[in-house]
Amino acid sequence: MTEHERYEAVVVGCGPGGAAAAAALARNGVETLVLERGVDAGSKNVSGGVIYAEESAPYTIESLFPGFREQATERPVTDNYIHNVAGDRVKTFDIGELHHHDTAWADSVLRRPMDSWLAERVHERTRETGGGLLTEIHVTGLLRENGEIVGVRTEELAPIEADLIVAADGVNSELARDAGLMDWDDPAEWFQGVKAVVDMDPAVLDDRFDIDPDEGEAHLFSGDLFDGVRGGGFLYTNRESLSIGTVFHLDSLADERAEPQELLDALLTHPLLAQWLGEEYREREYSAKLVPDSKKVAHESPHDDRLVLVGDAAGQMQAQGPIIKGMNHAVSAGALAAEAFADARSRGDPHRAGEFYERKLREEGVMAKLRPRSYDLVGRLSEIDAVDRVATAVADSALGRLGLRARPGSSNAPTTPPARRDGSRYRTALRDAPDRHRRGAG
Ligand SMILES: Cc1cc2nc3c(=O)[nH]c(=O)nc-3n(C[C@H](O)[C@H](O)[C@H](O)COP(=O)(O)OP(=O)(O)OC[C@H]3O[C@@H](n4cnc5c(N)ncnc54)[C@H](O)[C@@H]3O)c2cc1C
Repeated sequence: MTEHERYEAVVVGCGPGGAAAAAALARNGVETLVLERGVDAGSKNVSGGVIYAEESAPYTIESLFPGFREQATERPVTDNYIHNVAGDRVKTFDIGELHHHDTAWADSVLRRPMDSWLAERVHERTRETGGGLLTEIHVTGLLRENGEIVGVRTEELAPIEADLIVAADGVNSELARDAGLMDWDDPAEWFQGVKAVVDMDPAVLDDRFDIDPDEGEAHLFSGDLFDGVRGGGFLYTNRESLSIGTVFHLDSLADERAEPQELLDALLTHPLLAQWLGEEYREREYSAKLVPDSKKVAHESPHDDRLVLVGDAAGQMQAQGPIIKGMNHAVSAGALAAEAFADARSRGDPHRAGEFYERKLREEGVMAKLRPRSYDLVGRLSEIDAVDRVATAVADSALGRLGLRARPGSSNAPTTPPARRDGSRYRTALRDAPDRHRRGAG
C-alpha cells in the first residue's frame, strides 16, 4: 500500500458549505485540512447575496462563526417587496411576513469579503487541530485504493489520504462527478444566475431607499420583464452597493433563445429601477453562474465510501419562488457532515460518517425543504415556473393570506419614468506548500 500524507478530514472548497464543515470538524477536535482553489476564498464565488438563518435549521452561520453578522455581512434585510410588472403597470406587494416566516434573520452579503472573513477563521481553527487552509490548490479528483475512495488528488501537491473527504466544491464539483454522484445534464435541472454589483454612496443609498444605515431592503421582480423566459429578478441593498441580478430556468432560456445578460440589462434599464439607480451607474462586478434546482437534483444519499457531498455539490440549492436559498443549506449540510463524522469516530467506525450524514439530513428536516414532497404550500411558492404569477400565488396561499399586503400607495402604480498538530507524522502538505498557498502566519 502506498503511504500518503494523511489527515483525519480533508475539506475541498471554502465557500459557506466547506467553511461550516471545517469549523464544526475543528470544534470536534478533528484534524482538518481545507483545500481551496481560489487565490483567496471568495475570489471565485458568485451570489446574489442574502444569507438566511432559518429558525428550523440545525445550524446557522452565526452559531458556527460568532460575530459573523457584525463583521462579515452588509445589511440586515428589514423590508421585502415583490414587484409584479405587467406592461407599464407595476403591482408592488410587501412580503415582509412571508419573508420572515421561519427566518431568525437574513442579511445581505458580498461573497468576496464574506468568504475571506470565513477563511481567516477556518484557518485559525483548523490549525489548532493540526490542519489548516491552503489556497490556490486545485483538487482534481479522488484518490482510490483497491477501488475504495480514500483521499484526494491535487494539481499542486502529492495525493492526500483522509478518513473523511468533504466535497464542498460547488456546483461543478469534480469530486461528485468523479464518484458518479452527479449526473445532472438536463437543462431543466439548472438555473442560470447573472448578477451585477453597482456602487452607490451609502448616504445616497439610504436616501433613495429611505432607510437607516442599519436597515436594508430586498426587492424581487416578476412579470413580463423577461420576454417570456421563466425566472425572476432581485435587488438587495449592501452597505455601499446594490446587488442586482436575475435567475432563469436554463431550459427556458434555451427555448426562447434568450441571452441572460440581455435580460439582466432589461431589468437594469427598467423605469422601475431608475428611482434607485438614478443617472449614474458604476458597475463594480459582473458575474454569471449555473446553479442546481434542489427540487430535482438534491441527492438523497450524498455519500460514497469516505466521501460526503455538501452544498451545491449535493444539489442543495433551493429556489423558493424567486427567493434563493443555497448558502444556508450548505452551512447546515457542512456542519451535519462534520457532526456525523464525530459521531461515527466516537463509535470507533469513522467510515460510517456518510451513512450518519444522510440520516441527519433527513431527521433534521433539511431534505424535506430541499425536495419537498408536498406542494400544498411550499410547492406553489417553490415553483419558479410560476414566478410570473407569483404575486397571485403568494396572495392565494394560506401564508399569503396571512402575510401579504399591497404596499401602501404603490399598488398598481404606473412605473416611474427613467430619471494542524505539531510533531505528528504527516505534515508535508502544509509544510511543503509554497508560501503563496499558506494563509496567515503559516
Ligand atoms: C446569481 C445567484 C444568486 C444567488 N443568490 C443567493 C442568495 O441570495 N442566497 C443564497 O443563500 N444563495 C444564493 N445563491 C446560491 C449560492 O451562491 C450557493 O448555493 C452557495 O454558494 C453554495 O455554497 P457551497 O459552499 O456549496 O459552494 P460555493 O459557494 O460555490 O463554494 C465552492 C468553493 O469551492 C471552491 N472549489 C471549487 N472547485 C474546487 C476544486 N476543484 N478544488 C478546490 N476548491 C474548489 C470554489 O473556489 C469555492 O470557494 C445564488 C447563486 C447565484 C448564481
